[in-house]
Amino acid sequence: MSVVKHISNRVLVMYLGRMAELASSDELFGNPMHPYTQALLSAVPVPNPRVKRDRTVLQGDLPSPANPPSGCVFHTRCPLARERCQQEVPQWREIRKAHMVACHFAEDAAIST
Ligand code: SF4
Repeated sequence: MSVVKHISNRVLVMYLGRMAELASSDELFGNPMHPYTQALLSAVPVPNPRVKRDRTVLQGDLPSPANPPSGCVFHTRCPLARERCQQEVPQWREIRKAHMVACHFAEDAAIST
């Protein structure tokens, strides 16, 4: 992800073949709104031994793309999943200018970071 940040103008994050989040590189790395993006970024090493980062470790195994979970395909591993996530596919929506995300609760996810 560190390399992606430096070689890209825009970044699309996908999970299980579905679009999760799209934004400019600066916007995505500065304001990740999807819980999967946040988990990915929390795993990026910080080149300073004095800086401690809270890492989000996703639980469970990656589901099969041939038999994806219902609703939001990330709900089986998402730390913010709620009942709605199992039943309803999240809309692909613009949550900030030119910042697209597919999550019912992206606003809540942004607050939790
Ligand atoms: S829609 Fe629900 S399960 Fe999917 S990323 Fe958002 S909070 Fe998590």
